[in-house]
Amino acid sequence: VKRIGVLTSGGDAPGMNPAIRAVVRKAIYHDVEVYGVKYGYQGLMEGNMSKMDLGSVGDIIQRGGTILYSARSEEFKTDEGQQRAIEQMKKHGIEGLIVIGGDGSFRGAKKLTEKGFPCIGVPGTIDNDIAGTDFTIGFDTALNTVIEAIDRVRDTATSHERTYIIETMGRNAGDLALWAGLSGGAESIIIPEKEEPFQDVCDRLVRGHQRGKKHSIIVLAEGVGSGFEYGERIKKETNLETRVTVLGYIQRGGSPTAQDRVLASRLGAKAVELLINGNAGRMVGIQNNKLVDYDINEILSLKHHINEDMYNLSKELSI
Ligand code: ATP
Repeated sequence: VKRIGVLTSGGDAPGMNPAIRAVVRKAIYHDVEVYGVKYGYQGLMEGNMSKMDLGSVGDIIQRGGTILYSARSEEFKTDEGQQRAIEQMKKHGIEGLIVIGGDGSFRGAKKLTEKGFPCIGVPGTIDNDIAGTDFTIGFDTALNTVIEAIDRVRDTATSHERTYIIETMGRNAGDLALWAGLSGGAESIIIPEKEEPFQDVCDRLVRGHQRGKKHSIIVLAEGVGSGFEYGERIKKETNLETRVTVLGYIQRGGSPTAQDRVLASRLGAKAVELLINGNAGRMVGIQNNKLVDYDINEILSLKHHINEDMYNLSKELSI
């Protein structure tokens, strides 16, 4: 393999830049050229790509977002779109592609691989919703952002004796809410994977209030529904002052944490290794601190699961 491409796709995540950096440097280390594709699959179809050198990824390891930009593309979901993308890569002499993104992006990588163009997926999303890897790039940074927000809300919650509901991102996955809830000391963690009876949540709030607790924090994953609606229901049922904070896009920004930088560097480099050793249609991941790789088809057919022990522990600690 003499030349490969790299792109970021779907929702951006902190740590995508260190992943791009690792891909470029690892490839050049092995005398392989790298083309950076801008705007994900959209840019791929349009031939929006150029050669990257060692310096082009300098001073980005600490930056949030992605220097290659990201995009969503409906056109790429069609056969013609995918064919156009392959033609562009052939025209530029690219022999393999590394896709940094979420499960939607992996579906695209799978399609290209099926059409004979080798792709490797690198999981990059704050949602941590991909099977076959304990962590996705961006999750740790987003988690730390959420915890910081919870700590701040807690200060004001104590001062005013209120119940606060904090809505986190995560799409259909509850990981961000679960980890943030446990490390932020939340009363209740409401996630799509677990259905806790509404009455139990209210009872716990009232019990806490009766024993003189000054504040209560509930972390709710967006996959469950609107934090505002949940807040209304709580207020109606318990008569406790309730405020809602929807964290939104601040969770996607910021400088990647050390954990995310290390993860991104390891996964990016591993993806290059797989590609230059002739692999195709695989996703890299990390399990028990060991690098792993799986068939993308297999990954897409599996569901990511939350850590049950952690969920149970969060309940024990918030009686
Ligand atoms: P995140 O979940 O973090 O936002 P994602 O990668 O899942 O990231 P998507 O918007 O689902 O984000 O996917 C990104 C892009 O991947 C899409 O805009 C589309 O171009 C391509 N893609 C998604 N699904 C398919 C598919 N079934 N076939 C081909 N391409 C696809």
